[in-house]
Amino acid sequence: MQEQKTFRCKDLGLACEFEEKAENENELMKRIEGHIQTAHQMNPEQPEVQEKLRKAMQ
Ligand SMILES: [Zn+2]
Repeated sequence: MQEQKTFRCKDLGLACEFEEKAENENELMKRIEGHIQTAHQMNPEQPEVQEKLRKAMQ
């Protein structure tokens, strides 16, 4: 069984109900980057943003 990863904007301290799940971190990153860019004006290609997102994944 693979470990599922979950991301919630709330874990970043954002007032947002967005939540996404995927089989692994890389897949999850692909699924959330669109939301992060359009809803929160953050650039997922920046290393510090990427790090923040990965740390928030559970
Ligand atoms: Zn959000």
